[in-house]
Amino acid sequence: MAIQIPSRQLFIDGEWREPVLKKRIPIINPAKEEIVGDIPAATAEDVEIAVDAARRAFSRNGGKDWASTSGAFRAKFLRAIASTVLERKSELALLEVVDTGKPLVETASDMDGVASCFNYYAELAEALDAKQKAPISIPVQSFKSYVLKEPIGVIALITPWNYPLLMAAWKIAPALAAGCTAILKPSELASVTCLELAEICRQVDIPPGVLNIVTGLGSEAGAPLASHPHVDKIAFTGSTATGIKVMTAAAQMVKPISLELGGKSPIIVFDDGDLNNAAEWTIYGCFKTNGQICSATSRLIVHESIAADFLVKLIDWSKNIKISDPLEDGCRLGAIISKGQHLRKGFFIEPTIITDVSTSMQIWREEVFGPVLCVKTFSTEHEAIELANDTDYGLGAAVISKDLERCERLTKALQAGTVWINCSQPCFDQTAWGGNKRSGIGRELGEWGLDSYLSIKQVTHYISNEPWGWYSPPQSS
Ligand code: NAD
Repeated sequence: MAIQIPSRQLFIDGEWREPVLKKRIPIINPAKEEIVGDIPAATAEDVEIAVDAARRAFSRNGGKDWASTSGAFRAKFLRAIASTVLERKSELALLEVVDTGKPLVETASDMDGVASCFNYYAELAEALDAKQKAPISIPVQSFKSYVLKEPIGVIALITPWNYPLLMAAWKIAPALAAGCTAILKPSELASVTCLELAEICRQVDIPPGVLNIVTGLGSEAGAPLASHPHVDKIAFTGSTATGIKVMTAAAQMVKPISLELGGKSPIIVFDDGDLNNAAEWTIYGCFKTNGQICSATSRLIVHESIAADFLVKLIDWSKNIKISDPLEDGCRLGAIISKGQHLRKGFFIEPTIITDVSTSMQIWREEVFGPVLCVKTFSTEHEAIELANDTDYGLGAAVISKDLERCERLTKALQAGTVWINCSQPCFDQTAWGGNKRSGIGRELGEWGLDSYLSIKQVTHYISNEPWGWYSPPQSS
């Protein structure tokens, strides 16, 4: 099937714009190792123009065109984006397969996720209007206090390649719902669908400059965006190494950040459950999206009494995974994003299960970002918790057990932003997403995602007619 990749430019101030230095980056289809098109490569010069456009859009007409309009006004654009994404779902899903090597079934479900995220934040934008001026109870009658929730300003959104449009949606939807304006810098390895989102923004007539999409290399476009003095906040998803650079840049200007970084999440399998169910969740938790998920539960901690049988089951289930061209029917494991071990042609890696690891090994401690599962056994609940928490990361953790009291105990003990019970990976717009420890700062999704783009202004009003009376009045008054 020949899929035509549209040739696009940067999207700045509501228009397509050629990069100042006219540079472009090739798009490689990882399943075929073929160059299938190219994307514009922005540099600091373009970032300057995009930040200026976002700043003007934020304050145009005293903010009345976007930042201080009603949430209901902004919600209309979010809903229009959602319905256009759904109209173009099959085309967008195909483009993302070619760009990332992910199976079509996954990218199609990601497009549903993109649309549902925009619709969800449209609802929250509408609800925001009623939450303004929420009174605060204070113990003094001569004052009245309330809170305003205001958009933070111009936001830099920097995203990775593993869920290109979905990770962008998780940031764009709440940022725009809050009334912020934004510059999105998607990953240079997978920007195609984000550029199509720019076309969708043009179609739905989003006011110019409200969302700018600037593709390019991390060092040439991401770094100048993160350090730009007129950017008010950075929301970043990517590796911990880049997150450190972004945080360092933000620190120079005491700029707020949210960071969604890497992980090395555990899945603990007790000996009281159905081994087939446990096996399916274990391989789904680690091999979905070819293991290129920040929250992949890639450390299996299994009870010693079932370890041998469970490994046999895991191998059986893994052998049954269809590894193929990501466009083929039934494909559940496509190509990884860039050069690795090859299966004939394309960047493919087979599911890999590694036993006999020690806790000091790099494979146990560091993110692989491929379909690689490491296994250790435990004998007591305490030992399982210690093993699970013995990591610098804290994104997700999963527990497989029929004993719900035990699940409750583990939920409290596990140091992670998400705990899955008897499953691994499902994630809903309404829940919070984010990590502890070196997995990040802040939460996306849910009402927390919206709050992260809002600034709280407390207003305190002296309502008494009495003079304040702190100083003695001068004789003349
Ligand atoms: P990456 O850190 O290489 O790149 C992420 C983004 O940062 C890209 O757009 C890149 O161009 C940009 N970038 C690179 N250098 C930069 C710099 N100096 N300044 C500013 N921006 C710069 O990450 P990746 O390889 O695209 O994505 C994989 C990583 O993302 C994994 O570590 C994964 O765990 C993480 N991730 C985390 C979550 C989460 O929710 N916690 C979700 C998805 C992916």
